[in-house]
Amino acid sequence: MELLLDVNNLSITFKSKEKTVHAVRNVSFHVNKGEVLAIVGESGCGKSVTAKSIMRLLPEKTGRIMDGSIMFDGKEITTMNKKELVKYRGDRIGMVFQDPMSSLNPTMTVGDQIAEGLMIHKGYKKKKAREKAIELIRQVRIANPVHCCTKYPHQLSGGMRQRIVIAMALICEPDLLIADEPTTALDVTIQAEILNLLKELQEKMGMAIIIITHDLGVVAKFSDRVNVMYAGEIVERGTLREIFYHPQHPYTLGLLKSIPKLDHDFCEKLAVIEGSPPDLSILPKGCAFSERCSHAMDVCDQYHPEQFDQSSTHQVSCWLTDSRASRAPRVYSITH
Ligand code: SF4
Repeated sequence: MELLLDVNNLSITFKSKEKTVHAVRNVSFHVNKGEVLAIVGESGCGKSVTAKSIMRLLPEKTGRIMDGSIMFDGKEITTMNKKELVKYRGDRIGMVFQDPMSSLNPTMTVGDQIAEGLMIHKGYKKKKAREKAIELIRQVRIANPVHCCTKYPHQLSGGMRQRIVIAMALICEPDLLIADEPTTALDVTIQAEILNLLKELQEKMGMAIIIITHDLGVVAKFSDRVNVMYAGEIVERGTLREIFYHPQHPYTLGLLKSIPKLDHDFCEKLAVIEGSPPDLSILPKGCAFSERCSHAMDVCDQYHPEQFDQSSTHQVSCWLTDSRASRAPRVYSITH
């Protein structure tokens, strides 16, 4: 497969007068053309910050890329000037945020907003932009797109607004779409519809997608590969099958156990990962998950876990997967 995005040793900090937060630490991953990569983890684990850094959308005053590189189609993003950035943001990479209201202008009809994007990015004249806006709205499966064009964002349902935001992100037919928690604010049925729509568009247009979510259930039928993030680092990465059927990191296992199942007895409580993530302004010496990990060993508090290969596509940062670790089960296996 052809490489599209290559992120290497990315480290991002946020500075305030009181403290420095190490939000992303030594993160490396890649996305090939036309594939779907999921980045999964709890709130505050650095997944959205990583996504925003790809778009160079970190808050200028506080957020800074301290180290690493982000190569997109052979070009370094971290050193691009504003003129270069304008060309590739929207044109080559589109982004869909969790809250569609924050991406839409409440004072313009959605049709005008899409048409404006087409005039700016594609140089279309007003009439052609209007026609194309209708086509894009049809493409995201909104019934009666001509009528929808005349609506203001507040006149549409949450699901329809998210479809409009997706339509806007598709204006330039980007090579990469970053969807940051695109379904979190929606109810379960609409969530499934939006995910099906994204998958359908991805297959039709051949674009790559990075989907950012806290919910492993969301990525189950959608992704080719999964990166699990915890406390600013990728703790496990693998193909969808490796992550779902052979998870190795205790945190991944905890996330999997917390997915509701259809045969779940609703009188029983769902499994939760006890405790909360560490304060990223005070980095732990060893494994950041040790406080919450029921398998923690002495070595975990003293040394940061190395990354151990399980296969050419499956890597885990956990001492349990070191062949020298003798305590605790070494390999987890889930049978479905
Ligand atoms: Fe648990 Fe130790 Fe693995 Fe961290 S390195 S996840 S504390 S077993």
